[in-house]
Amino acid sequence: MCEICGKCFKSKNFLRSHRKTHTEQKTYICEMCGKGFPLRQRLKEHTRVHTKERPYVCKIQYHSSKAYNVSKKLLDTQSV
Ligand SMILES: [Zn+2]
Ligand SMILES: [Zn+2]
Repeated sequence: MCEICGKCFKSKNFLRSHRKTHTEQKTYICEMCGKGFPLRQRLKEHTRVHTKERPYVCKIQYHSSKAYNVSKKLLDTQSV
């Protein structure tokens, strides 16, 4: 099955030549990173990666505070 458009093919050779049509015509280009996509839907899905990204949120800080809560909980259960 073609993972790009979901078409099914009886032979692997058909699938291979079909995939080429996708890789050769990357008509939808991401304006932010320059990646090319054969389908507009793919590009839409991809641009979400950029729009959802929040560079000002520190992931490490978030995780460490979470870890702190967990260790605190563990300490509480241990003291009881
Ligand atoms: Zn396809
Ligand atoms: Zn991009």
